[in-house]
Amino acid sequence: MSSAEYNPFTTAQQQLDEAAGKLGLDKGTREFLRWPQREFVVTLPVRMDDGKVKVFRGYRVQYNSARGPTKGGLRWHPDETIDTVRALAAWMTWKTAVVDIPLGGGKGGVTCNPKEMSQGEQERLARGYVRQVGRILGVTKDVPAPDVYTTPQIMAWMMDEFEAIQEESHPGVITGKPIPLGGSQGRGDATARGGMYTTREAAKKLGIELKGATGAVQGFGNAGQYAALLGEEILGLKIIAASDSRGGIINPAGMDAKALVKHKLETGTVQGFPNTEPISNEDLLELDCTVLFPSALENVIRSNNAGNVKADIICELANGPTTPEADEILAKNKRFVIPDFLANAGGVTVSYFEQVQNTYNYYWPLDLVHERLDEKMTKAFHDVYDMYMKEDVHPRLAAYMVAVRRVADAAKLRGWV
Ligand code: GLU
Repeated sequence: MSSAEYNPFTTAQQQLDEAAGKLGLDKGTREFLRWPQREFVVTLPVRMDDGKVKVFRGYRVQYNSARGPTKGGLRWHPDETIDTVRALAAWMTWKTAVVDIPLGGGKGGVTCNPKEMSQGEQERLARGYVRQVGRILGVTKDVPAPDVYTTPQIMAWMMDEFEAIQEESHPGVITGKPIPLGGSQGRGDATARGGMYTTREAAKKLGIELKGATGAVQGFGNAGQYAALLGEEILGLKIIAASDSRGGIINPAGMDAKALVKHKLETGTVQGFPNTEPISNEDLLELDCTVLFPSALENVIRSNNAGNVKADIICELANGPTTPEADEILAKNKRFVIPDFLANAGGVTVSYFEQVQNTYNYYWPLDLVHERLDEKMTKAFHDVYDMYMKEDVHPRLAAYMVAVRRVADAAKLRGWV
């Protein structure tokens, strides 16, 4: 299936249907969980630097709030559509449930290309978004955070705009803020760090030694860069390949992750890093390595290449990198997938810690954040692993069964279903 035909929301519904079937959920509950509770679509006029107005499309989907206020990132991407946002909002619902934090799932997006926008244009877009969407945001309603191509600076502008409208302090309205504005220690690398903790636990269960083993990183944004750094630091991996939207590089002897991140930040790409050969994004996914970190966008491991994936562990730091057909193939080939909404739940977990600190107006040291994140991720991994062993299903289905059960129970207790 070409990516043009691929609809991530169809994938999200398909995954849910399978889990709901396995759990034996009644028809009403299943149907309720297949759809977002609320969707908000906005039109955003922004004055560009050339003096002309450009009109952007923005979205916020509050998928499910049975377990608490909806929570999830805000993605600025040229390919953003209501369906990508719906899928990502559904995955946030399962993500907050699998790590057992008292929040629901939501997601936002703007169809735009921030790489072609100045700082001023980005600020005006961020503020314009809050002027429209702010009416459905708030710490007891729905709380955004960073995601693909959005940054702590963008969160800062959005918080400021919200506070200007409300005429009072509201640091908890958004997470992933810069630390001087109420951001949490440890939020920056939390997504990748949580993935490292789950990989560590998976390797123990599978009897794989990670020290000196090989790792490959597909996608080199926030999650991918920290995957390289922390893969080396926490797991002792040797990073042999990395890629970004322009292409990839490989050195089978291993690369210095710190130097590679520095090169990426200075040049905008991993390409041209000394002592490496070029490799395509497609070939990187099929590399013979111990851990593969898909860390970019959805729909990269599909029925046509899943059979060639050789990594022992696939730690999905991206949202939705693997299609349902590919999951079956990976399971048959005994490739162990740590599914996205478990593997990358560290980001929202520290976002939740950030909200807790904002509410108390009292801030934690970094080691406390790491300790509590490890506790949450390790517990979540084992909840999923126990289900995987008990039900003899592939790991994603096991994670869905854990998460969907929790959301369905909450909805039932409220009398919704
Ligand atoms: N955007 C991140 C995710 O997909 C973090 C969401 C959050 O912190 O609310 O999990």
